[in-house]
Amino acid sequence: MMIKKLNDLYFKELISSEEISQIVKSLAHQVKNDLPKGEVPLFIGILNGCFVFASDFIREFNSDCEISFVKLASYEGTTSSENVKKLIGINQDLSGRTIIILEDIIDTGTTLQEIYEIFRNKNIKELKIVTLFFKPDVYRKELHINYIGKNVADKFIVGYGLDYNELGRNLPAVYQLTTQPKMKNIVLFGPPGAGKGTQATLLKEKYDLIHISTGDVFRFNIKNETELGVLAKTYIDAGDLVPDEVTINMLKAEVNKTPNANGFIFDGFPRTESQAKALDAFLAEKNERINGMVALEVSEDLLVGRIIERGKTSGRSDDTDEEKIRNRFNEYNTKTAVLKDYYDAQGTYYGVNGVGAIEDITDRLSKVFDKL
Ligand code: AMP
Repeated sequence: MMIKKLNDLYFKELISSEEISQIVKSLAHQVKNDLPKGEVPLFIGILNGCFVFASDFIREFNSDCEISFVKLASYEGTTSSENVKKLIGINQDLSGRTIIILEDIIDTGTTLQEIYEIFRNKNIKELKIVTLFFKPDVYRKELHINYIGKNVADKFIVGYGLDYNELGRNLPAVYQLTTQPKMKNIVLFGPPGAGKGTQATLLKEKYDLIHISTGDVFRFNIKNETELGVLAKTYIDAGDLVPDEVTINMLKAEVNKTPNANGFIFDGFPRTESQAKALDAFLAEKNERINGMVALEVSEDLLVGRIIERGKTSGRSDDTDEEKIRNRFNEYNTKTAVLKDYYDAQGTYYGVNGVGAIEDITDRLSKVFDKL
C-alpha cells in the first residue's frame, strides 16, 4: 500500500485488489445463480470505467453469455456533472433477451437512469443492474439496483477502471484522494561499502533531511548493550541481515522521533522486499511516501577492497574478515538487490554512478535529489 500521484493529486489505497476480486467473484456467482438454467444473458458494460470490472466479471461468470458496451460520460474532473453526454450503443435486436447492465460505480444514478430509459422500450425479457461500487449517500433515483458489490462513502475514487482525468484506470486496487505529502523521503541504496553513509552525511545538511542509518542504529545499540543490541549482534557479526520484524520496528521508532522532519534519507533500509512494503504502508498512514530510491552503482570487486581498507579504521567487526564481507554481498545479492525492481516498477528508481571523487558523486546525487 502506498501513495500515488495522478496528474496533480495524490491518492492512497482504499480497497485492495484482493478484496476487489472477492467482490467480483461473489457478484458473478450471485448473478449466475439467479438466472434460469440455460438462459444466455447479454451483459452491457457502461464505458469507459467498467471495462476492467466487466472483463473480470464475465470470466468469473464462467457460463455462456454475450457482452456489449455502451458509452455515456458524466464525469469531468472530480465532481459528477449532470449533463450526461450521448449514447454510443447497441444496434442488435434485444427483444426477449435478459439484459444485465454492468456498472463500475453508481453515484447520483443519472447515467444509469438514462441507460435504463433506453432499454425499457426495447421489448426485452428482463433488465437487471449490477454495480461494483455504490454511493448510497448520493444516489437520488428510485430505480432498484439488483446487485451491489460494495457501498462506498461519497469520496472521489480511482483505480480498477475508474479514472481521474483519464489516469489511474490501470491500477489494480482502488484509491481515494489524500492530502499532498509534505516530506521528501529518499532511500539511498547500494551494495555494502558503496558510500551511502558518507554521501548521506553530506546530503542531509544540504537538503535539511534526517539521516537514518539502520546499521548505525544497530551499532549504537550494540555499543550500549541494549536489548536490541544484544539481539542484533550475532546477525551483524556474521554479516547476516537482522530479522525483518526487529528492523522494521526499530525503523518506525526512529522515524517517529522526529515527526516534523522535512523528510528522511533512509540508508541501509529497506534491505528486503517485506521491509520495502512495510515502509510504504507506514508512510502511507502518515500521508507520506518515498519520493525515490537513489542507488549508488559500484561493482562488487571494487567494494571488497574498499571495505577492507575501511576496516583498518572503522572498528566495525564486520569490515575486517573477507568471508563475512562476502556474506554481506551474498545477502545483498539474494535479498536486497531485488528492490531495484520494486522501485523501478513504481517509476522511482534512479541509478547514479558511484565511482569517482566524493564531491563528484554528491553532485550526481544532488541532481537526482533536486528533481524528486
Ligand atoms: P550497514 O551499516 O548498513 O552496512 O549495516 C550493517 C549490518 O547491520 C548489516 O550487515 C546487517 O547485519 C544489519 N542491518 C542494517 N540494516 C539492516 C536492515 N535494513 N535489515 C536487516 N539488517 C540490517
